[in-house]
Amino acid sequence: MPEAILTLNAGSSSIKFALYECPAGARRLVSRGAIEGIGAAPTFTALATDGTVLEDKHWATGTHLDHEDLLEPLLTWVTSHLGEENLVAVGHRIVHGGSDFHSPTRIDDTVLAALEKLVPLAPLHQPHNIAAVKAIGSLRPGLPQVACFDTAFHHDMPAVATRLALPRIYAEEGVRRYGFHGLSYEYLIARLRELSPGLADGRVIAAHLGNGASLCAMRNGRSIDTTMGFSTLDGLVMGTRCGSIDPGALLYLQQADGLRAADVERVLYHESGLLGVSGISHDMRILQASEDPHAREAIELFVYRLVKHVGALASVLGGLDALIFSAGIGEHSAGVRAAVCERLAWLGIECDTAANTRHDSLISTSRSPVRVFVMATDEEAMIAEHTARAMSTLSS
Ligand code: ADP
Repeated sequence: MPEAILTLNAGSSSIKFALYECPAGARRLVSRGAIEGIGAAPTFTALATDGTVLEDKHWATGTHLDHEDLLEPLLTWVTSHLGEENLVAVGHRIVHGGSDFHSPTRIDDTVLAALEKLVPLAPLHQPHNIAAVKAIGSLRPGLPQVACFDTAFHHDMPAVATRLALPRIYAEEGVRRYGFHGLSYEYLIARLRELSPGLADGRVIAAHLGNGASLCAMRNGRSIDTTMGFSTLDGLVMGTRCGSIDPGALLYLQQADGLRAADVERVLYHESGLLGVSGISHDMRILQASEDPHAREAIELFVYRLVKHVGALASVLGGLDALIFSAGIGEHSAGVRAAVCERLAWLGIECDTAANTRHDSLISTSRSPVRVFVMATDEEAMIAEHTARAMSTLSS
């Protein structure tokens, strides 16, 4: 059996994983899966690349398991699948690298302490990422772990794109724009480079439209600006997050409605976005199937905000050569893509309706000066690649 790398993406209610074999410098996905229902009725599922179920474990409703309890069966399964010696590293998606972590980093006690200091910058995500690192460290001491940061791709955005117009003292304590979804954007621009190196060096906007959603403007394959900023709340309307909001509205909620910081956090992260506006669901599929006018309004706002931010980023880029739709909504919702392209006709975008309906990888017409792509993203592949590279750099 060749050496293998496990990737982990640990959140509050799920831990997604992927397992790659790495024969002679290559990488081959062997399994993907997830531990889901954390805190409710946990399940552990591992699938082969053809969808065959390799492992399917369920715990009783109400079973409380921490990250170590949940990752132990995963590691046991990996070991039984691969053999004891073959797992050579675990790569983690870490949401926040702050101002200091610009590239994938082997985790030791010093790095772990630095990651913990960043918890206040991403209080809803970073603690779960760190819990997974600690759990692996405790279950398999000595197994190398590599941190791959969602912020890293944006670290060399022009300084002006990182600033918030607050008194300077706050920037000194890290209150600045960072950007997220970096592993996804790095993957997408690499795929575009395979299709067309010239376009990848041009003016590109990628739209990662999952439950979390953001845009990234790239030139020469590097992030120039992005819609998420200090936190993962900024920018687009998301499943349950508000996106850009007038800060005055937050002051009002606190002063007039008496909401405490924790209440505001709950509203902004969990009760807003598509869910908040529709009052029905955070799920685009459910909203698209609904006749309820509030579902229509939520989709309308989602598209409107998306178009508005594409316009802003196209201004930053001085025009647009390629637009990439990705993640759940971007890959699968022909309706959202058509509505966005229609409203961006002024940029020269011309959508090929038949190609869009078929979910082709290229959905612009041959006349369209802006090429429009539909691409699956693969953050796990990026984590595996970074982890393998970090390990080979360390061993050479
Ligand atoms: P996450 O950010 O959790 O990884 P995904 O990338 O899976 O999220 O995207 C989830 C979103 O994609 C949901 O809003 C879901 O409704 C939407 N989605 C998935 N499939 C479709 C589809 N066929 N049509 C429209 N929306 C879809």
